[in-house]
Amino acid sequence: MRRFDDIVVGAGGAGAVLAARLSEEGGRRVALIEAGPHYGDTAATPADLLDGNAMSLVQHSWGLTAALTARRRVPFPQGKVTGGSSAVGNTVAIRGTPADYDEWAALGNPLWSWEQTLPTLTALEDDLDYGDREFHAAGGPIPIRRWRAHELTPLQQAFLDGCTAAGHSYVADHNHPASSGVGAIPSTRRDASVRVSTAMAYLWPARDRSNLEIIPGCRVDRVLMRDQQAVGVVVDGEELSARRVILAAGAIGSPALLWRSGVGPADELRRLGIGVHADLPGVGAGLIDQPRIGVFLSPKPDAAGEGAPTGQIVLRTTSSSGSTSRFNDMYYAMVNRFDLTHHFPKLREVAGARSVFGVMAVARRPHSRGRVFLESADPSTPPRIDLGYLTDERDYPLLAEAVRGCWDLAHSPKILDQGQEVVLVEQKTLSDEELMRNYIDDAVDSAYNPVGTARMGPESDETAVVDQRCAVHGVGGLYVADASVMPAMVCANTLLSVVMIAERAAGFLACR
Ligand SMILES: Cc1cc2nc3c(=O)[nH]c(=O)nc-3n(C[C@H](O)[C@H](O)[C@H](O)COP(=O)(O)OP(=O)(O)OC[C@H]3O[C@@H](n4cnc5c(N)ncnc54)[C@H](O)[C@@H]3O)c2cc1C
Repeated sequence: MRRFDDIVVGAGGAGAVLAARLSEEGGRRVALIEAGPHYGDTAATPADLLDGNAMSLVQHSWGLTAALTARRRVPFPQGKVTGGSSAVGNTVAIRGTPADYDEWAALGNPLWSWEQTLPTLTALEDDLDYGDREFHAAGGPIPIRRWRAHELTPLQQAFLDGCTAAGHSYVADHNHPASSGVGAIPSTRRDASVRVSTAMAYLWPARDRSNLEIIPGCRVDRVLMRDQQAVGVVVDGEELSARRVILAAGAIGSPALLWRSGVGPADELRRLGIGVHADLPGVGAGLIDQPRIGVFLSPKPDAAGEGAPTGQIVLRTTSSSGSTSRFNDMYYAMVNRFDLTHHFPKLREVAGARSVFGVMAVARRPHSRGRVFLESADPSTPPRIDLGYLTDERDYPLLAEAVRGCWDLAHSPKILDQGQEVVLVEQKTLSDEELMRNYIDDAVDSAYNPVGTARMGPESDETAVVDQRCAVHGVGGLYVADASVMPAMVCANTLLSVVMIAERAAGFLACR
């Protein structure tokens, strides 16, 4: 049997970071197992992964679907390649707010307060614009660059002008903790075109380490357990042994692996014929995903769009939904082009065009919760994803506010001028509760930021799966360190927070 000190499962936003950091100590033998392929340099990397101006939703994806609501099932892309979803995503690089991380601490994880996490959020970046300023650093693994004024498309410039005309403040740096308003998106890239994934940022520089073995193209079936101790993994029927197993298979993959390994809600595991090693009802429960919705226009026949970046300007603002609103919990972006092959299927029927453009909103802190679960112990059967959107009534007024915000911003004359017509939604929808509900039911989609399916918390919290050092409760030698462990959603896209989690988890593990 092949033996390692640490086996990291999944080489995505978190796993690439964990393996690179843990293998810095030459005496530690680390295996990084990834279901998707690994490309070792730029020349070997396919165009869809290099193109930072369009998401790659098919070529390097698991091809999953999710129940968005009780009556809608949608494609749910998750990256399947080293770099994981960071290799296929939109490159937006925005941190959570101080209140987000302080909430993690208040939930029983004092090591994750803003004060504790800021040094890591800073050190992980190579900020090409503000590296010498407070709250920032230069020289870290993840390059962060903001769009230059001369690079903005006319639509993006119109959106920026429209937002400032509407009274929103101009923001030079969305990653300053006090910033709120409109400005250029910080991106994980060094230039205007190439996406930098965590594989590129962390694994490429580590490629010559003899103590790091990257094992691509292998799906881990389950963790090998001896009673309450993880002792390795099973990959395509082969057993690999390790002193520690660190799951970084993402918010969908990690809970599925835990279930298959006998760690999860005992009754449900038994029903599937899986032997129970730890009864943890929180595994797969509590899924949080950010909903997005928008107001879209069909483009004029001669409109630019093909090849343009998805978005360059973003407005971060605070919802007015009362006691549950949080600083910067609403996000509005001008989207230059939505390819309707993969997004918003309802729009495809109505728009009569292959693409639309418009203003999209993401509600960062929805109230509804979903779940990831298994219907079979067979590892080749994909996990079921129930996003649970709109199961909490409070999300309707939140998304109605988002639609009204998008409507106002999309109706700036310079934006309207570039479209033929607004599709799917009409003026009267804004003031008619039933029409608005119908629009939300039909048009809401995922912003692809699932978290919380193996949440961090003290043992006294029966929904918690890992402790604040990412060790699975009740199981020795088993850790989870990826988007799954977030105990609450951040008011941001999730990647930078995930990289921060992996950096800090690697620090804790290096000391053990
Ligand atoms: C289409 C898309 C666009 C996004 N855009 C942005 C953005 O612009 N900005 C942002 O901040 N965030 C974005 N995100 C979210 C961000 O990418 C994720 O939060 C982050 O990558 C999560 O990291 P992770 O390690 O938890 O999971 P992932 O990055 O998904 O990595 C999990 C890895 O584990 C592998 N894996 C899973 N199961 C197994 C198994 N059984 N055996 C072996 N390997 C396995 C997967 O193949 C994958 O490589 C986007 C996500 C998607 C899907």
